[in-house]
Amino acid sequence: MTTDMGFRLSKQRKVILEELKKVKTHPTADEVYDMVRKIIPRISLGTVYRNLEFLCGKGLILKLGAPGAQKRFDGTPEPHPHIRCAVCTSVADVDCDIEIPVIPSECTSGYTILSTNVEFVGVCPDCQEARQ
Ligand SMILES: [Zn+2]
Ligand SMILES: [Zn+2]
Repeated sequence: MTTDMGFRLSKQRKVILEELKKVKTHPTADEVYDMVRKIIPRISLGTVYRNLEFLCGKGLILKLGAPGAQKRFDGTPEPHPHIRCAVCTSVADVDCDIEIPVIPSECTSGYTILSTNVEFVGVCPDCQEARQ
């Protein structure tokens, strides 16, 4: 597979990217490993980690994660808002189109903006149920 960015993806990277694009769960590296292992049984966790970092570096996937939480990966690289569970750290996409805020250049405290991360914090349905 040759991407429009002009480099080739190895079979391992292609499988990782395809599996990640199939799910909406924003899996951790461990969960990606479990998914990919069903297709490439001999792949190692270290290889999955390295390939996830590679795909992030190329802008093909997103890496999410609050400080201290496990990193999660997202097969949708375009910026989009997320909801994170404050209890179990699971992450979901916001289900409808809402506008990503853009700040005028005079309001950035001199910073160059590289990306925007909109995240709502809540309690997921599973954790709500567990509380009752
Ligand atoms: Zn939860
Ligand atoms: Zn997402």
